[in-house]
Amino acid sequence: MAWDFETDREYQQMLDWADQFVRDEVEPLDLILGNPYDKSNQRIIELIKPMQQAVRDHGLWACHLGPELGGPGYGQVKLALLNEILGRSTWAPTIFGCQAPDSGNAEILAHYGSDEQKARYLQPLLDGEISSCYSMTEPHAGADPTLFTTSAARDGDEWVINGYKWFSSNARFAEFLIVMAVTNPEVSAYQGMSMFIVPADTPGVNIIRNVGTGTESDEEASHAYIHYDDVRVPLDHVLGGEGQAFAIAQTRLGAGRIHHAMRTIARVRQAFDMMCERALARETRHGPLASLQMTQERIADSWVEIEQFRLLVLRTAWLIDKHNDYGRVRKDISAIKAAMPKVYFDVVQRSMHLHGSLGISNEMPFSAWIVGAESLALADGPTETHKIVVARQVLKEYLPHEGLFPNGHLPTRLEAARKQYADFLEREAAEF
Ligand SMILES: Cc1cc2nc3c(=O)[nH]c(=O)nc-3n(C[C@H](O)[C@H](O)[C@H](O)COP(=O)(O)OP(=O)(O)OC[C@H]3O[C@@H](n4cnc5c(N)ncnc54)[C@H](O)[C@@H]3O)c2cc1C
Repeated sequence: MAWDFETDREYQQMLDWADQFVRDEVEPLDLILGNPYDKSNQRIIELIKPMQQAVRDHGLWACHLGPELGGPGYGQVKLALLNEILGRSTWAPTIFGCQAPDSGNAEILAHYGSDEQKARYLQPLLDGEISSCYSMTEPHAGADPTLFTTSAARDGDEWVINGYKWFSSNARFAEFLIVMAVTNPEVSAYQGMSMFIVPADTPGVNIIRNVGTGTESDEEASHAYIHYDDVRVPLDHVLGGEGQAFAIAQTRLGAGRIHHAMRTIARVRQAFDMMCERALARETRHGPLASLQMTQERIADSWVEIEQFRLLVLRTAWLIDKHNDYGRVRKDISAIKAAMPKVYFDVVQRSMHLHGSLGISNEMPFSAWIVGAESLALADGPTETHKIVVARQVLKEYLPHEGLFPNGHLPTRLEAARKQYADFLEREAAEF
């Protein structure tokens, strides 16, 4: 029997260390430091270096990577168990060397970058010394690559990129951007787009403004609206060959989506813990909130939904480890992606509600988490498109039923069952 829901003792000890370390050392950073992608403050770099070293010493640095890129290659199930801890803190992924979108960008560079690009960008990225940006979404087109207009044209020994991109996270802190652009408008978008590495200081990379989410201030805003205005890069700055952008994007986003889901488990559990503690602590004239049945329903629904979601994530992680092929888990990853914002939103909303006016106030983190849930319903493909993927993949496993009535039609089934057991039924009838 291979079904097993237990973590091996050695890895559990490592997780216990991570849990304590994140709680005691890392979570406080979220309250006193700014954006983890901003590498400009040397004093912050010096503060976190020993913490990153402690993570390395405990064998938990860059757990999303295989040994060829300096990670331990534990696989996705173990990564999931770690991310269930790291997702509690904004700074934890940076301290553990597995922060998005750098994690996905590093994988693209590792696969498709030249030796020179790897030396200049990949190694410092893996070492956590620089940040990167993934610049795909366009202001008029959202997630739909068939509508993208940002283009790249050859001019001598250079590519010239022109167009606009929207919500390019961390562009203001990035050393380089990975940009998707149309290189052949004559063919379909799936073959006609290419991926470029663009150094952030290239002339023509103009950030029009940085957009914040929810109630973020202008200083906190980190999603860039960018105008690529005659941006020139050498020919070898196309990654993976001309026309390969869509295939590369799918590989990159597949891993990114499940990593977000793993971290979401942590955040949702945090909201759930707060809900339970508040329910026990807050008194009404009928007793504590926890004694009221509607509170109990909220707690029960939340617990069930979190456990269901977690099992789906772990099962998908296990399938990735088993097949080592994201193509085979497309349906599973889309299912997680569609389920993630719902469980996130529902549990946070219930917890927020149970905290009353304090819950909606700026003295609690819930409103930022509600925006976080909605962000995950949009980023890396909106929920609707993922549900379409799930339904299409599921329907491939079915055929239409034959005849006028469906296979579950009871009179038809009864007739068939009677025919099948006619001898028995006749003997039974003869007895009486
Ligand atoms: C926090 C955050 C970070 C992001 N970071 C990046 C980044 O680093 N790089 C990057 O390139 N992009 C990034 N994005 C952008 C993200 O990819 C887009 O938000 C997403 O593609 C949706 O596009 P849109 O926001 O323009 O929404 P729209 O496309 O305008 O969608 C509007 C509505 O239509 C729905 N919808 C869209 N398509 C369909 C469809 N086919 N069927 C049914 N309904 C549909 C959407 O769910 C939404 O409700 C980020 C987004 C967020 C929220």
